[in-house]
Amino acid sequence: MTENKTARTIPFFNYPAQFIRQEEEILGVMRDVMRRGAFILQKDLEEFEKNLAKFINVKYAFGVADGSNAITIALIAAGIKAGDEVIVPSHTFIASPSAVHWVGATPVLVDCGKDHMIDPKSVEAAITSKTKAIMPVQLNGRTADMASLQEIADRHGLLIIEDAAQALGSRFGNRFAGTFGIAGTFSFYPAKLLGCYGDGGGIVTNDDKVAAQITMLRDHGRDPEGQIRRWGFNSRLDNLQAAVLNFKLKSFEQEVVYRRRLAQVYQDQLAGVTQMLLPPPPCSDGKHFDVYQNYEVEAQDRDALREHLANRGVKTIIQWSGTPVHQFEALGFTVKPPYTEQMFTKCFLLPMNTTVTEDEVIYICEQIRDFYQARR
Ligand SMILES: *Cc1c(COP(=O)(O)O)cnc(C)c1O
Repeated sequence: MTENKTARTIPFFNYPAQFIRQEEEILGVMRDVMRRGAFILQKDLEEFEKNLAKFINVKYAFGVADGSNAITIALIAAGIKAGDEVIVPSHTFIASPSAVHWVGATPVLVDCGKDHMIDPKSVEAAITSKTKAIMPVQLNGRTADMASLQEIADRHGLLIIEDAAQALGSRFGNRFAGTFGIAGTFSFYPAKLLGCYGDGGGIVTNDDKVAAQITMLRDHGRDPEGQIRRWGFNSRLDNLQAAVLNFKLKSFEQEVVYRRRLAQVYQDQLAGVTQMLLPPPPCSDGKHFDVYQNYEVEAQDRDALREHLANRGVKTIIQWSGTPVHQFEALGFTVKPPYTEQMFTKCFLLPMNTTVTEDEVIYICEQIRDFYQARR
């Protein structure tokens, strides 16, 4: 009878709610752009690029078509080519190894550690004479141990190209995700930390030569005078999306504060649940500043727990639809990174975004505690 008293519906991500709370402002930004007829490579894009670069303290930022294109262009601009090997974690979106594949290089998949970030030991073990670069994927709003990775890269003469699609604003030490290597990339997919209303991506670099290449690569190989200097792509961030992103960037830091608060509530509410491994909490050490794109846990009896949560109105997902890259048979990988293998029997994402309330997080955690209590 009273079972449904507290029933709620908490979607994993609420796209309409995220728009509706700023509907008038967003429509105002769009109307202004459209009335100016400013659609491709216009001043809103330039301003967004300037503000993005300033925010993460990097010399150049470029808006491109999406976060996947961003990786491809970054790899080409950094000089990665056919025959090279690039080390990528298996726990990532297919876009990271796919970009390596499409520049003609070979993605070499490695393991992650307990914090779900690329494992430096696994990286070191995968280096061959063909290795040209390491691609740390800054997942879930956390930045990998860049001190160890930089040390390995320096010792072996390798480049670092970061896939920071999930980590805008995250830091390791005093540097922002995306700014450690020769180039770093971001995604502005709607559900990302900074999302637009369609596809969008970014590339950042401190290197003048790489920046010049990116300028041409994203615009048909043209230099600023319109002369074709190399083969390129059509991969420009729409000015309309750039204007929206520029507007949203203003409140971005408050959104990060909010996500970190939700992470702390999860931490406080679930600290006693021994059947779960939680992500590192917001102030776990002095090196990492995590921005919680996702809240990825490992849980005993995961599938039953997810079903229990679904029955109580809480939608959860498993990243990459439950399959790390090395397990896609069609791609022919033969490695079996051990931590990633076992983690994918346990990991999933709890709701984490700026339309989830603290109260909802408390409700979600109550359902989790109920689940494990009933099983003791
Ligand atoms: C979202 C994402 C991408 C790709 O971004 P798109 O903008 O969707 O192309 C790449 N890598 C990771 C880790 C991502 O999460």
